[in-house]
Amino acid sequence: MSLVQWDHICQPKLCGGLGLKNLSLINEALLMKIRWGLISSPNSLWVQVLLSKYTLNHTSLPNVLLMKYGSYMWKAVAGIWPEVLKGIKWDIGNGNKVRFWWDNWAIEEYPLHAFASQPIPLEQVNECIARFITDEGAWNWRLFANFLIVAIKPLNMSDEDDQMYWAYSKSGGFTTKSAYLALSKMTINDEDSFWSFVWHWRGPQRIRTFLWVVGQNRLKTKAELFRRHIGADMRCARCGCLIENTLHALRDCPGAKDVWLALLPFEIRQ
Ligand SMILES: [Zn+2]
Repeated sequence: MSLVQWDHICQPKLCGGLGLKNLSLINEALLMKIRWGLISSPNSLWVQVLLSKYTLNHTSLPNVLLMKYGSYMWKAVAGIWPEVLKGIKWDIGNGNKVRFWWDNWAIEEYPLHAFASQPIPLEQVNECIARFITDEGAWNWRLFANFLIVAIKPLNMSDEDDQMYWAYSKSGGFTTKSAYLALSKMTINDEDSFWSFVWHWRGPQRIRTFLWVVGQNRLKTKAELFRRHIGADMRCARCGCLIENTLHALRDCPGAKDVWLALLPFEIRQ
């Protein structure tokens, strides 16, 4: 009998699961790591080898989606691009690196071309942000106001290069763990102090596992078995109480209560 759903088991331990990894998502997270490396480490030898093998350069790289040719690995890396794109954010410096229409810099998860009201002029498609700024540092609205259906904020430009960062980690650097959590739609904020208590309880592992089952409310009590259409009644076999649920089995049943009372100091017991 499976007591707890697989999805729950795959969640981190401090979120109520058993921390088992979903191998399919781990694979995707590792592919994302390769894809991130292709963009963030342009001077690495392995990046240059791949770019030369597929006759790409860094301008064309972000646009590479699925191809008909290429190794299985390359196709997989190309196919994971939309997921990587969601996590890429930019700190705008001089605006010479980030492409105005195609990079995620203005609006959550979406590049500006998603908000274009009509086809973007060819000469603008791959232009960087700096091209859309006037000498005074303001937006040159004349260039794009007719195509864009959303408002964009003024930029605080600087002389620094534009910096790419990973939105799902605190440090801004890519980690496979943060990519995995993003793919799983989980955040570490889901941590629950109850599960922390369970897994940090000082005692045998089998007791911690038992506490986890109790916390999931999946102890095989008569009520739980009845819910699963196993057995015809929910009556407690020890005391005859009408419903044997978790609280009854562990706390309220006379046999359990005697154990708890025996643990209490004599004065409180009175
Ligand atoms: Zn009972």
